[in-house]
Amino acid sequence: MKLSDDIISIKGIGDKTRTAFSKLGIHTVKDLVFYYPRTYKTYSEPVPVSSVSEGDRVAVFCKVVTYVESHKGKRYNITSLSASDDSGTIRMVWFNMPFLRSTFHKGESYIFYGTVKYSGNMRVMEMPEYFTQFKYQEMLSTMQPVYPLKAGITNNAITRAVASVKDVIVGLDEYLPEDVMRAKGLMTRSQALMQIHFPENEENLRRALSRIAFDEFLLFLIKVKKLRETTVTIPNEHIINKEAVLKKNAFISGLPFSLTEGQLSAIEDIVHDMSSEYMMNRLVQGDVGSGKTVVATVALLMNSLSGYQGALMVPTEVLALQHYEELSRVLKPYKLNVELLTGSMTAKEKRTVYERLKDGSCDIVIGTHALIQEKAEYKDLGLVVTDEQHRFGVKQRENLSEKGICPNTLVMSATPIPRTLAIILYADMDISVIKELPAERKRIKNCVVGTDYRHSAYSFIRQQVAEGHQAYVICPMVEESDKTDAEDVINYTEELRDNLGPDIRISYLHGKMKELEKADIFRSYVNREIDVLVSTTVIEVGINNPNSTVMMIENAERFGLAQLHQLRGRVGRGEAQSYCIFINVKKTEDSVKRLKVLEESNDGFYIASEDLRLRGPGDFFGIRQSGDMDFQIADIYKHADMLKLAQDISLEIGDEIEGRIVL
Ligand code: ADP
Ligand code: MG
Repeated sequence: MKLSDDIISIKGIGDKTRTAFSKLGIHTVKDLVFYYPRTYKTYSEPVPVSSVSEGDRVAVFCKVVTYVESHKGKRYNITSLSASDDSGTIRMVWFNMPFLRSTFHKGESYIFYGTVKYSGNMRVMEMPEYFTQFKYQEMLSTMQPVYPLKAGITNNAITRAVASVKDVIVGLDEYLPEDVMRAKGLMTRSQALMQIHFPENEENLRRALSRIAFDEFLLFLIKVKKLRETTVTIPNEHIINKEAVLKKNAFISGLPFSLTEGQLSAIEDIVHDMSSEYMMNRLVQGDVGSGKTVVATVALLMNSLSGYQGALMVPTEVLALQHYEELSRVLKPYKLNVELLTGSMTAKEKRTVYERLKDGSCDIVIGTHALIQEKAEYKDLGLVVTDEQHRFGVKQRENLSEKGICPNTLVMSATPIPRTLAIILYADMDISVIKELPAERKRIKNCVVGTDYRHSAYSFIRQQVAEGHQAYVICPMVEESDKTDAEDVINYTEELRDNLGPDIRISYLHGKMKELEKADIFRSYVNREIDVLVSTTVIEVGINNPNSTVMMIENAERFGLAQLHQLRGRVGRGEAQSYCIFINVKKTEDSVKRLKVLEESNDGFYIASEDLRLRGPGDFFGIRQSGDMDFQIADIYKHADMLKLAQDISLEIGDEIEGRIVL
């Protein structure tokens, strides 16, 4: 078998399984080999029933002491049984698995593996896995890969398929010279992939992931290096004129606030770049709320005043609309044509904008990236700004230049990458950092609390609204789900209406709504026609309503620290004191520790580093924070050593090995 073979050639895969695999993007043996587990499960020795406590994920070895019951519940069929060991009894419950009734027999013993809950005084495991003692013994202390799945395919099917292409993995080519691997203690690619699919122990797995991270970084860095070589010497065909540079001073003095030092020096860098003979390629990095939009606006203004078109690309429509309204307002005195371009506009509206881009009557276009980047033709595009770049990838940066247009580019990012790493990852760009938040900002006050605090939180929200402010409440889910008991936007809004009373205007927002509807709701919120906005994380990036002073996050334990930090960044954007209330519903030891980091600090860099520390070496696939680049395994924080190594290797022998890297 070869990497390029269709998976149909694997024993046991027929047409039906092939179709199921294709839904996961697995078409060839190569796709399968590079389909990585999402996590690993370790099975441990069974423990006595009496020793378990709520939330433990354990195995128990028990005898079935009741007949297996199966009955129709309100929402699903429920199958249950009681099981005991010498120390106590525990109830096992399964949903929608009525066939289990014939699997278990009273008087026989099994190993049950799952998470323990308490229902009154009774210990319960919901949906436990079950094994015979013999089978369990086999798996004990091994790490079982857990692959990302879709309907129609089981974890077992993937495991089996990967097992039958072992010889392909073993025979995989190596592109790194042996002495390099030896000197740096790297596994071969073949060893690494074997360990990823069939880990022998944690240490080997850790090394395997490091090796794959190294490969991902190296490939990326070689690309970036190429990009740099081709971009640094591109002449700037859109040099801004002196008049435009002067006029921007008037714009800045007309602002209702004075700019921070970081903003001013970023603008200075931009002026320098846009006036220079080579094309600008600059990253502006600044934590949430540091005021990146105004920096982008100044750049767009100078560009347009010099007679060129500008584009501002953002990841969501809501953000596009917001930037559009803001820029139209502040740029009004300059008589520039600012236009919006989003997916929910009618075909006719879009066509009009495209025409105006082509004939040059549109000066500045703001929209979602695909529309602006792939489909638009411009008369004379001088500057492209991408906001919240961590939602894009390096690929997008290449696209425009492939079309033969070479505008100046400016990228705004809130990802807290340490400078040493940023210099490597953005080697093709120059970097400006906005270190501080505007001076008059008050530090956001945080509290991490349990569900018993909800009612106090509601009265607090009521009080803030009475003072003329607004509040966000974040729920993890859109609607009620059988699978989890996490809060959902729709039910929560109802409950909140009951709790807060009719005087307080509450609306909700979530990702499944139509773009236009979302934009409408958000606009009403900004116009203060809504007091409390209940939302999923769709508002996470970029959104700005400085009048919001409360951010309440339900099931905060379900989110990653970086995401919580982004969410919190939606408040504290004006002069009033702001508050963030994190509701920790499942107070596990881990979530208490993680949320404490947010309670103590509002600093994105600190949070990223603490997150890494807490995740620790055993967390193989933590929440990846480097959304900037779409690495599968590599994590710029966790694998910082591999990133530096990949940097050295790419400089030393990058050109030589480039052609041989196949990923
Ligand atoms: P981000 O960096 O997260 O994109 P924004 O550009 O949206 O932040 O700015 C957040 C808020 O701060 C906006 O309401 C903006 O008008 C305001 N702002 C920006 N710069 C300053 C400043 N120097 N002083 C006071 N407020 C500012
Ligand atoms: Mg922003």
